[in-house]
Amino acid sequence: MTSLDDLPIRADLRGLTPYGAPQLDVSVRLNTNENSYPVPDAVAETIGRAIAAELRDLNRYPDRDAVALRGDLAAYLGAGFNLDQIWAANGSNEVHQQLLQVFGGPGRTALGFLPAYSMHPLLALGTGTRWAPARRGVDFGLTVAEAVAQVREHRPDVVFLCSPNNPTGTVLDLAVVTAVLAEAPGMVVVDEAYAEFARAGTVSALSLLGDHPRLVVTRTMSKAFGFAGGRLGYLAADPAVVAAVQLVRLPYHLSALTQAAARAALAHRDELLSTVSAIKVQRDRIVTELRARGHRVADSDANFVLFEVGGDQRAAWQVLLDAGILVRDVGLPGWLRVTAGTPAETDAFLIAVEKLSS
Ligand SMILES: *Cc1c(COP(=O)(O)O)cnc(C)c1O
Repeated sequence: MTSLDDLPIRADLRGLTPYGAPQLDVSVRLNTNENSYPVPDAVAETIGRAIAAELRDLNRYPDRDAVALRGDLAAYLGAGFNLDQIWAANGSNEVHQQLLQVFGGPGRTALGFLPAYSMHPLLALGTGTRWAPARRGVDFGLTVAEAVAQVREHRPDVVFLCSPNNPTGTVLDLAVVTAVLAEAPGMVVVDEAYAEFARAGTVSALSLLGDHPRLVVTRTMSKAFGFAGGRLGYLAADPAVVAAVQLVRLPYHLSALTQAAARAALAHRDELLSTVSAIKVQRDRIVTELRARGHRVADSDANFVLFEVGGDQRAAWQVLLDAGILVRDVGLPGWLRVTAGTPAETDAFLIAVEKLSS
């Protein structure tokens, strides 16, 4: 049998295994920050009708520039946004890949502040971009001084900032974003996949866009909208950035079915986003309850919580799995990440947590 090693694959990919959280058949799955609530029946029916309306025309390619969808996304972001500032793709992962294809690549460097989203370095690898692993500070925070010093050292072509950050849940002060913009020679990408879960008073980097043509803010419908299976992510930036990613995007990358489904979902955003406040209640409950049990817990503005287990996190992960709860080992020694879902899922998680000796 032919194995991967027998194929003439790139030297920098040799010996690697594909990325992905285990998709195990467990009753309580709190490992990939999905929205635990299914799409409501009425919305599912509307999306179904929108998809059905496209089927006869599938002999034709879809709108290559997804103009109508980008207009809807601009309207969702609010007054003042125009579709020429918006670009959409199959998940924000694809948006990030396109950004690295056009602003990174061989001979160029991308930088991220770890621990952060593990897809950013993997997309750098796939696009031949050198990866510079910068560090977060105490309690997973990032000060202006810490950020600027590391950007100055590496002179990256692309900086990834993630706020609220996965896996820590922490938000960035906008002063860090503006300081990095001032110091970095290249593009600054703020990954705001969890923006809708942030606590009151958190200001989005969207508010900085007007003055900063090298700033890109990425969002997704995978988390707050409960639309992870629909695969729709997007960016907001200067229109020149949107023109730039169009140099590398595959023609017709967003299928007619995806565009129709996403537009129908956006038209029902009030129903879909109505779960966000309930999830935030569970998020805050998990933080409070874990701290009451003596765990160290990172502040969270996302739909998940990073908590210290007191010992080997791989063993703790297995203890929780044996109790029927799947959480995420993000490879951070001593810490695990749990997604906030329904009240019943929180109940089950908190019971299982008692089995950990903290
Ligand atoms: C989940 C997540 C995404 C979303 O990726 P999609 O491709 O849009 O599903 C992006 N960034 C971060 C930090 C995430 O945790």
